[in-house]
Amino acid sequence: MPEFRILFAIFSFIFGAVFASFAGVIAYRAPKGLSIVKPDSYCPSCKKEIKKSDNIPIFSWIFLGGKCRNCKAKIGAFSFLCEIFGGIGFMLAYLQYGDNTKKMPVFIALMLLVFLFIIIAGIDHETHDIYNITLILYAAIAVFISFYRCAVLNGDIWEYIFGALFGFGFFGAIKLVAKLVLKKDALGSGDIYLVGIGGFMVGVLPLLISIIIATLLGSIIEIIKIKTAKTEREAEIAFGPYLLLGLGLMAIFGETFMKIYWEVLL
Ligand SMILES: [Zn+2]
Repeated sequence: MPEFRILFAIFSFIFGAVFASFAGVIAYRAPKGLSIVKPDSYCPSCKKEIKKSDNIPIFSWIFLGGKCRNCKAKIGAFSFLCEIFGGIGFMLAYLQYGDNTKKMPVFIALMLLVFLFIIIAGIDHETHDIYNITLILYAAIAVFISFYRCAVLNGDIWEYIFGALFGFGFFGAIKLVAKLVLKKDALGSGDIYLVGIGGFMVGVLPLLISIIIATLLGSIIEIIKIKTAKTEREAEIAFGPYLLLGLGLMAIFGETFMKIYWEVLL
């Protein structure tokens, strides 16, 4: 890999971590009805403002051992995780789409997508709710990415249409069956939108893979959480963040994956 690519990949990571830090603030404050821009970051425990030098994405949380410098109260890993995912997301998007002028619009759209996914995942994690406005923005980005892939790169519109039909149909059917047989809501309607729109963004097979990633990762992490927390099993887990992780990965790698798939198949 040429040096400039390594350098730009590192820049993308830093850029992603900074933006994701802001996405984390939005996800934390918006559901509580707090202003997103004011005040500056503060300790949720002692309310003291966090100095700029103690508010460096990723590093500050590690160096301060996940504690407030002032009152030593434990600060959760929420922002830290947002920043890590944002950094890695931007970096992977750059490595896949950032070095080519023709692909550049997809790179920009993917950065917006990672930013939005962190907000949706954060709010879903905090409140078990997915806001309509975030779904509309998600749909706009997904439509842009797929149309651009069809118009400029070598995407096939039917692949994306089938992806959407499969996503809405499959998850809609699961929800319906659960409702009729188990008499409970197995999936939020938000999750169905995440998968349906995601299907249009990535196509059938990458959608299936993102659902598998989400299910495996979600079950493993939720089981670990239940075992370690020693608490009663939560009535409802937020599946959205896992779906978004799988969909984000496939938005970045789906095209490459399909290329390999067809080469192996033909
Ligand atoms: Zn404090």
